[in-house]
Amino acid sequence: MVAQRRTLPYPKRTAFHEAGHAAVALSLGRRPTSIRVTRARTGVTDGVYSGALLYRPASVRRCVVVALAGVHAEARVTGYSPEQLLRDTGIHDREYVRAALLWLVEGGDEPDMRTAWRRAHADAASAVARSWPAVEALAARLRLRGRLTGRDVAKLLTGKLLQDS
Ligand SMILES: [Zn+2]
Repeated sequence: MVAQRRTLPYPKRTAFHEAGHAAVALSLGRRPTSIRVTRARTGVTDGVYSGALLYRPASVRRCVVVALAGVHAEARVTGYSPEQLLRDTGIHDREYVRAALLWLVEGGDEPDMRTAWRRAHADAASAVARSWPAVEALAARLRLRGRLTGRDVAKLLTGKLLQDS
């Protein structure tokens, strides 16, 4: 960690975590308004969850995928599993996802929590894989600057998103 700080000011795993949330949100049509990471390994991606989205099962599923994308991106660069990371850096993501999946189970949109978690992880893993070039581009910029606005995100990814689609 010390050696890493000498080369780039912001921690790699945190940058990839937030870049995962942001890139997958964008791929699902939600543009982040800002992304921040700190040297103390905390981070936040704003503008990707909206209360208005939380009334339809399809929207809740999208929010779940965005919420899990952070630990799935972080897992790819740390060697920890997404499940391990949900008990550490993704503890708030875990609470959010758990509440959303409970809502789906109670509404009959998922048979049980175990199935719901398994499906959510599979969806998040493939979403992160599809968005990986965008995750890397955002993470690289976050490691240098610590903060990106919605405009920065759009400018940085316009070329890549067009290439991917
Ligand atoms: Zn997160």
